[in-house]
Amino acid sequence: MYGLSKTIIISGGGLTGLSLAIALRINGVTVSLHEAGSYPRHRVCGEFISGVSQETLETLGIADSLADSHRHRSVAWFSGNDHLRDNILPAPALAISRHLLDDRLQKTATILGVDLHDGSRRKMNPNAAGEVWTAGRKLAKGGWIGLKAHVRGISPKAQLEMHGGPRGYLGVTPVEDGWHNVCGLFRINKSISARHSDLMPAYLSDNGNTELSQRIAAAEWREGSFTAVAGFALGLQSPTRGVLSLGDSHAIIPPFTGNGMTMAFQSAETALPHLIAYANGTRTWSEVCESIQLQLAKRFGKRLTSAKLLHPLLFHTVAKPLLKHAPLRPLLTLLR
Ligand SMILES: Cc1cc2nc3c(=O)[nH]c(=O)nc-3n(C[C@H](O)[C@H](O)[C@H](O)COP(=O)(O)OP(=O)(O)OC[C@H]3O[C@@H](n4cnc5c(N)ncnc54)[C@H](O)[C@@H]3O)c2cc1C
Repeated sequence: MYGLSKTIIISGGGLTGLSLAIALRINGVTVSLHEAGSYPRHRVCGEFISGVSQETLETLGIADSLADSHRHRSVAWFSGNDHLRDNILPAPALAISRHLLDDRLQKTATILGVDLHDGSRRKMNPNAAGEVWTAGRKLAKGGWIGLKAHVRGISPKAQLEMHGGPRGYLGVTPVEDGWHNVCGLFRINKSISARHSDLMPAYLSDNGNTELSQRIAAAEWREGSFTAVAGFALGLQSPTRGVLSLGDSHAIIPPFTGNGMTMAFQSAETALPHLIAYANGTRTWSEVCESIQLQLAKRFGKRLTSAKLLHPLLFHTVAKPLLKHAPLRPLLTLLR
């Protein structure tokens, strides 16, 4: 099966790039993958995956890497310090740290023969046939800051906790080894002078989540797990002409959906047959790019629009009754 003629070069070794590289390699394609950073590493991410099918994971050849992830169904919702409601998710959300998942995937990719270069930052190369851009969030003025850390000993209220307020929200999710991932997205507030790991309790207090802020400040923090990211915008990313962008480089769904990782996998799945056809020499690069872009728009368009409309409701105090009483199932359907 190996030895097809054209190589695919992937820039960005996050979930999109790694899962695509693995799937291409399983299908006999020669793949070169460039990752600016190194593995293992902590990433700003809520670390729960909602809405991905087993079929997608198997098509990509990554089901084994997620087989032992936690499966969470109970969710507790909070606004400020008010416990609004509890729900059972219609299907379990998978939870696993990015530290572990990205590392497992890079090991699988290496074993399968992906030519993986970490510490390799690529430049965009518009119109270059066979090059795929999966380098994640584009730098943009979005006004958001994402914060994440692993903590232990916070007395969880449910398997998943979602805490909202007027300026942001934060999720609490158990991952491996007794650690809870705490990850939030907040409107940047320049008057907050806290630094490094003090930022998260400060942003939570500013958002009215004072009880959670105290729980987190008093918890044991996993060394090296605190990470922060700013300078990105949600939604469709401004496209660069002649560049095939997938995953977050294509579009960022608001994190509250737990669907960004699903979209990373699904965008790799969408691109896969087309890239195999290009590598086989049965389709041209421009035909392949056109087909992938059309299918991405079809697969993600409605979901991105619904998430964009629902996102402001999380911050609006007038929407609190809706958050408290709206039936969960139809809301989730909008986001798949
Ligand atoms: C606050 C926050 C919380 C989130 N919570 C969740 C959640 O709970 N569930 C969920 O499903 N999703 C969540 N997401 C979204 C999810 O993390 C992303 O959708 C997902 O990581 C996208 O994967 P990706 O591979 O496209 O991008 P990334 O994971 O960002 O990977 C891109 C990779 O490219 C590398 N890179 C960058 N530039 C270059 C370059 N020039 N050359 C080579 N390599 C480069 C980077 O180092 C990085 O490793 C969250 C996002 C945020 C901001």
